[in-house]
Amino acid sequence: MTEKYKALAEVLFPNPAYTPESLEEKYPKRDLPEGAKVTRLGPSPTGFIHLGNLYGAFVDERLAHQSGGVFFLRIEDTDDKRYVEGAVETIIDSLGFFDINFDEGATKDGDVGAYGDYTQSHRGVIYAVIAKKLVEQGDAYPCFLTEDEISEIRAKQEASKLNPGIYGEYAPYREVTAEEAKALIDQGKSYVIRLKSGGSPVSGESESEVKRFTVMDAIRGELSMPVNFQDTVILKTTGIPTYHFAHVVDDHLMRTTHVVRGEEWLPSLPIHVELFEKLGWEPPIYCHTAQLMKIGDDGNKRKLSKRHDPELSLDYYRKMGYHPEAVREYLLTILNSNFEEWRGENPDASIDEFEFTTEKMSNSGALFDLDKLNDVSKDVMLKIPAGEIIDFLEGWAKEFRPDVLGIFDDKEYLAKIIDLGRNDAKPRKDLIYAEQMVQFISYFFDDLYGDSAWIAKGAIESPEDGEPMAIFSEGLYPKEGFPEEVPAEDVPVILNKYLETYDHADDQSQWFDKIREIATELGYAAKPKDFKKEPDKYKGHVGHVSTVIRVALMGRSQSPDVHTIQQILGEERTRSRIASNI
Ligand code: GLU
Repeated sequence: MTEKYKALAEVLFPNPAYTPESLEEKYPKRDLPEGAKVTRLGPSPTGFIHLGNLYGAFVDERLAHQSGGVFFLRIEDTDDKRYVEGAVETIIDSLGFFDINFDEGATKDGDVGAYGDYTQSHRGVIYAVIAKKLVEQGDAYPCFLTEDEISEIRAKQEASKLNPGIYGEYAPYREVTAEEAKALIDQGKSYVIRLKSGGSPVSGESESEVKRFTVMDAIRGELSMPVNFQDTVILKTTGIPTYHFAHVVDDHLMRTTHVVRGEEWLPSLPIHVELFEKLGWEPPIYCHTAQLMKIGDDGNKRKLSKRHDPELSLDYYRKMGYHPEAVREYLLTILNSNFEEWRGENPDASIDEFEFTTEKMSNSGALFDLDKLNDVSKDVMLKIPAGEIIDFLEGWAKEFRPDVLGIFDDKEYLAKIIDLGRNDAKPRKDLIYAEQMVQFISYFFDDLYGDSAWIAKGAIESPEDGEPMAIFSEGLYPKEGFPEEVPAEDVPVILNKYLETYDHADDQSQWFDKIREIATELGYAAKPKDFKKEPDKYKGHVGHVSTVIRVALMGRSQSPDVHTIQQILGEERTRSRIASNI
């Protein structure tokens, strides 16, 4: 028997560059401390890297770096249609921005590490060696079926309500001999290499007869799955491996210990397990992550979609200017159910001190929620010193909002603005992401806010169809109008009186006493509760009067403390803004 398969293998793979043994020697077991984990990210080189990739990469990175192991980048380009120029750089930069860095693998300047080549399309000779081994063992064979023949088989199977596919009696080339194969090849017939599966299907009623196996998943626990019975293609007609085969060969020879990948790969796990078995290799520990979900407009959970959800794109976070630390912190809250509790107990610890575990990961759909991200970001921003926020903002503005670079001319002024209310006993949490921060502080800068209409420009392009998905603000931040409680003719009167009595040296209470005086003089209640009690007696209350001042100064009715803001604006700017509203 084996002689027969050996001869067949010789026909298919006459001059292998290596033997399986020499590959084992070339890529030996890694010399790492006990328990160190080796993980990898295997993106296809489309350059589009999304939140799901970041989520998975975060798991890889944590598992490797927490254990003193290795995290490497492998480019999975066996689907050659999708190669995009510069994709490797995009992947490395996009993840690097979030502080996810590789130790090994593909880099912008070629491979780094002893387990390469790290690009699948360069590994053809290696796949051939291992495919040859399977053929020699009688566990793989060339299949010369044409598309039409496969369709015919499928039609037959459908008619008899059988499992579709190439397997068992529906796999006519399972026992093709070396001579037959050679003759077909000489005729120019193309072929694929298929796994000769050891499983067999049980069709029809008896579900209980289906042979199952169990496998431990580090996120999902023990999984019981039906064994594979399909003669899955391992090498395509071009000699390029399918994902299934490339994954098994690469993760074995690169000595990956933990394979973190999306749950969409669960259905093909039986194929991978059978391949590992047939090759006599120990499989890695699988960690199948849950899909990222969000609550849709209809209130139901749904998958994040490339077409509809700009937040799926990592560009979104960069363009909006989320601080990478905020995104990391937020990802941990959805990755590990015990993270928030830990954070509560360790408010000032670095997130690297948190022990991330796959067991605490959700296996039923991780819920992604931008509002929650914003809340987390507010807390994270509060811990970052003003100087660092300014550097971050400036880097962001250079790339995405050069029109606002003027705010960095006076960094001392900007630092005061950033720190406004942040050092109070109950600190303000106004800062969320760069785009919002610029809007939030815009009133401190004369040329950033005004009366002109909002100009909206800039968008994220959908990776699917290039259509713009989200509008980013650009232009002047609009001013609000004065409160309706105050008759229009009172506005200049209030502002004039305010200017007349204004003393920049007044403290908080002196300053407010003056506003109260103006209010009572003009028929407004000195206290809101007086107005509430007897609304007919007053035009409004002191709060309405101070809102007139607030709006004149800042163009908005909600803001941090006006007295403090005036101190930051300085006397001249304060006076000229009030005056310009009269
Ligand atoms: N190239 C695969 C993908 O992009 C990687 C899956 C894996 O990590 O094994 O989905």
